[in-house]
Parts: sequence; structure tokens; C-alpha cells
Amino acid sequence: MHTKFIIVLGSLMSGLGKGAVTSSLLKILSMYGYKVLPIKFDGYLNYDCGTMNPYRHGEVFVLDDGGEVDMDFGMYERFLNKNLTKASSITGGKLMDHILKNERAGRYLGEDVQIIPHLTDEIKKRVLDFASKNKLDFVIIEVGGTVGDIENSYFIEAMRQLSTSEDLVFIDVTYIPKLNVVGEQKTKPAQSAFRLLMGSGIIPDFIVCRSEERLEESTIRKLSLFANLPKERIVDSSDLNTVYELPLHFIRQGFDKRLLYRFGIKDRKINKNKLIRWQKIVSAVNEQKNKPLSIGIVGKYTHLRDSYVSVKEAITHSSAKLHVSYNLKWIEAEDIESAGPEKILAGLNGIIVPGGFGKRGIEGMITAIRYARENKIPFLGLCLGMQLMSIEFARNVCGLKGANSSEFNKNSKYKVIDLMPEQRSISDKGASMRLGALPIKVLKKDSIIHMAYNNMAVSERHRHRYEINNRYRPILNRNGLVISAVTPDRSRVEAVEWKDSFGIGTQSHPELKSRPESPAPLFVSFLNAASANAEK
Ligand code: GLN
Repeated sequence: MHTKFIIVLGSLMSGLGKGAVTSSLLKILSMYGYKVLPIKFDGYLNYDCGTMNPYRHGEVFVLDDGGEVDMDFGMYERFLNKNLTKASSITGGKLMDHILKNERAGRYLGEDVQIIPHLTDEIKKRVLDFASKNKLDFVIIEVGGTVGDIENSYFIEAMRQLSTSEDLVFIDVTYIPKLNVVGEQKTKPAQSAFRLLMGSGIIPDFIVCRSEERLEESTIRKLSLFANLPKERIVDSSDLNTVYELPLHFIRQGFDKRLLYRFGIKDRKINKNKLIRWQKIVSAVNEQKNKPLSIGIVGKYTHLRDSYVSVKEAITHSSAKLHVSYNLKWIEAEDIESAGPEKILAGLNGIIVPGGFGKRGIEGMITAIRYARENKIPFLGLCLGMQLMSIEFARNVCGLKGANSSEFNKNSKYKVIDLMPEQRSISDKGASMRLGALPIKVLKKDSIIHMAYNNMAVSERHRHRYEINNRYRPILNRNGLVISAVTPDRSRVEAVEWKDSFGIGTQSHPELKSRPESPAPLFVSFLNAASANAEK
């Protein structure tokens, strides 16, 4: 089949769930048995997300190949249950870098280099190469930002140009507000947004409407009139209990069939088993048990939940697998520093310290870890969380007062966590981390990590600059911190554990590979331990 393209655009404002629409369509088409992959366009001039602050931009997601990409990739992978590559991420920065290098190399043969055609041609080339290299039936392209932004205008123009030669469908995701005083859904903002889109030469083939409540008949009628679309092409994307339900919500409306029909595909059937499998997951996610587990996440970006989205999703996947419910308590580490642990952490059934960078809140996280260890509350440390677990142990069990990471105190007497030797001389921020999927060797049978994965060789994604300083391995070990996993050459510690209660820290980020259809093993073990704690 000749590759077909679906372009997902956003109108009016950001945050409408273009990523969820894209992910749901990926899922649906894969359930139809098609070979489908996403591409994400991001207009910013950063090369990738590696240097972005999670507070502003949400979590930096890491792929197997080490690509540091937009958090939407996390959602694509969770839905598609496939490992993507950084070739799916096309940013303004990558394009500009490429164009300028070409220009300096004299490849434009004296032409003046312009957005159209040079940049737009490069975009089209990348999209078409991606499709043919991967032999895809479908490519779904999510255009970051909102129609009307200068940042993404050249991407939209490139797609308009592509639509004249390729089989391509535009989906516009827009917002339908409801004014409570009037009690009516309003379409005027969406109408103005279509005009803007049409001004770029694009008439959407479908309009997906984000709204709090189901679309009213009159809303659909008006949208259909103003967008020149039959009513069946207006799709409801009103709030659902869980985002994982969106593919099912689309299928219930017949969006799948209409989308395929628009491409001239009439007789293809969805794979019933795959559909049932997904339905089961969605009902498990929606299931509410009487006594939810109380799980605390102690971090420093807790005001913006998007900073830890993969951690939250990993908990959701495991809880669905175990058929337990949970309440998340987002805890600012600095609040523990001021109020003390007891007031904030008492009553939790499990504590997670997720990844992070920089000094703020570190002492609060260490206090939380000590509290978890001393009160036998199940603990999971992710990357930074594992480093702090080792520091806490060094300080309070091994008696190494003032132990720290050189990331937070360069003058500490005991740098239990230190820069990896090969990182010391690197100043290029984009090149200074241990990134991507890397093999982990489990050392101890019956350790927490071994029981979680039921395997002595595992692979997880990494993103870190610091690690356990090998000089301190013996003293940590002697005092009872179990070093349960290392790199295959044994040169680096990959996981540490407590002996007396459930506590594990991992240098990797297992949350990045957690999916509804294959929850991260360490999260499953952690939630199991939290359930046991709740039953005490
Ligand atoms: N800041 C720590 C490091 O660079 C931890 C990184 C992380 O948690 N991803 O090693």
C-alpha cells in the first residue's frame, strides 16, 4: 500500500490533547493491522528537548536510541507499545542546523536560502524518507503548537504542499467551550480558528472537538456548516475518565471507519483480540477499589504534573495490572525541609523519589528516604532517587557525615555520588549524559530487581551524568546496602536495595518503558509492596 499521511493540527490553544488524538489514531490503525508510526514537528529552535526545563516544557522523554524528545513521545509509545526512534522527532532546531550546514558547504549553489522552498522541501523529504525507509502504511504527523503560530507555520505549509502529491488527511483539534452562565456550547472561537487554517490553504477533513461535555447536536450542526464538512466528520473528544479510553471513544463514534473510508479503504476489519485486550486494560484502569493506596511522590517539579508524567502513568499501568487503586500525593521536597517528614509523610503506603537535576529540595528528598527506611515504607528511587538513597545510607548508616553528590556540593568530604569520569571534560550540554537503553546485569538472585524482572539481564533507559562513586561501594555494601545490579562490565552500579524492607533505587528510568500492555516490573513490585504495607 502506498503510504498515507494523517496530519494532526491544533487550533485555538495548546493543551487540547493533540498528542492523545495522535496516540489514539496510532493505536486504532495498529489494531487494524497497519504498519504505522508517528512524526512530531516541533517549531522551537532547540536541537532537541535535552536542555529544556521540565517546569516549562514537561518531562524530557528518552528513547532507546538516546533521543531526548518531547513528552508526547511517551504517550505515543504507551499507546502503540512500540519503541520509537529519534527519526520521528523533527524540530526547528534540527532543520535550521541542517540548512545552515548545507549552506556553508555550498550545496545551494549560489541560491538565496529561503523558508520556501528550502526548508519546506527538507521537511517533505524527511517525511517521505521516513515513510519509505520504514515501509509504512500510515504516518501520523502531529504538528506541535497552534495554527497561527509563526513557529510551526513552515511545517503546516510543507504539509499543504505535500497534500497536492500524496494521500493526506488533515485533522484539526479544536476547543468548544461552554459558558456556564448561558449553559450552551460555543462554536465561535472554533469558527475563527478554521478561518485561520483555511487562510493557510488547508481545509480540514475532520474536526476533533475537545470539550468538557459531549458535543451537542446543535454544536455539531454549526461546526459542520462553517467548516464545510458533513456532520459525520465532526468528532467528539470530550473529557473521559482516562486518556486510554480515547481510542475506544473514537471507535464508538465510527471515526476509525470514516477515516479509512476517506482514504478509500472500505473492507478492512479491526483485530478483535487486540481491541478486547485494550478494552480490558481500560476497564482495569477505570476500576475503583474501596481502599486506594496512598503513594507519595517527593520531587521538586510537583506543581507541574507533566514533569513526572511517565512516573504517574507507570503507576497507573501497574495498578491496573494488580487491580488496585491509588491516590497520588504530590509532595514538594522543600515542604519536608520546613515542616519535617512526619507531618507530610505519615500514612503513606509507598514513597517515590523520581529523577531530577539541581540542588533545590535535595535535603527534603533525603529526609523522605530516611523516613521511608526507618518506618519500613516501600520506597522506589528513580535515577536521582537512587543517588539520594545511597547518600542517605552513607550519612545515616555508614556514618559518613556530610556525604553528598558533587552535583550539589563540590566540597563534600564524601562524594558518594560523583561525575562519571568520561563526563568531566565535556562542556557541550547535548553530549554530556549517559543516554538511552543500556544493558543492566543483575547480580543477586532473589533480590528485588531479580524478582521484579525474573531475569539476570535487563535493559532500561538512562539519562544521567552522575553515578555511585566506586570508592564507596565497599563501605555501603559492608553496612548493608545491597548492590543488586551493575553494568555488564561491572564498572557502574545500576541498582541498590535495602535489606530489611522494600526499598530499591535504580540508576535507570524504568518508567519510560512502562506501558499499559507491559507495565514496568519495578513499579509492579513497588505497588505490590505498597499493598502489603496498606494491609498491615
Ligand atoms: N542529576 C542526576 C544526574 O545527572 C540525576 C539525573 C536524573 O535523575 N535523571 O546523574
